[in-house]
This record gives sequence, structure tokens and C-alpha cells, in this order.
Amino acid sequence: MGEFDNLTIEDYNDEPVHYCKQCLSLKIKIVGGFDFCDDCGSTNVGTAHVDEWDKLYQERYGETFLESGEKDYYSKL
Ligand SMILES: [Zn+2]
Repeated sequence: MGEFDNLTIEDYNDEPVHYCKQCLSLKIKIVGGFDFCDDCGSTNVGTAHVDEWDKLYQERYGETFLESGEKDYYSKL
């Protein structure tokens, strides 16, 4: 197995995301060892696979955060 076999862009998006359980923002900041949402200030932060999170986001807001076929959510933060 080559050294870079696991470093594809697809695998990058398999990383779990930290998200705010209040407003589902991905803008999570860590200050003083505590995670909190940069949008609403909630400390109710969870982790999920980006696809799970995207599903939650669609249920909440009725639209997908990620545009069709787009998985590069980091560019939107
Ligand atoms: Zn929030």
C-alpha cells in the first residue's frame, strides 16, 4: 500500500465535523478548553459525519448547506 493511498479528497470529507446543536453552525471555536459556537454562543457542541450533519441541516432549514455535488464545506466557513 502506497504512502498516500489514504490521503484522497474523499477521505478528507469522511472526517467528523464539530457542529453546534443549537443552530447547526460549523463555526465552532475552542476557547479556554471549551467548544462553543461562533454564531450563537452555545456550548452545546456535537460531532457527526458531514453527511449526517448535512441531513440535520436540511431538516432544520429545508435546504442543504452543501450545494449539489459539493463537499468542500471548509471553504464556506
Ligand atoms: Zn450555534
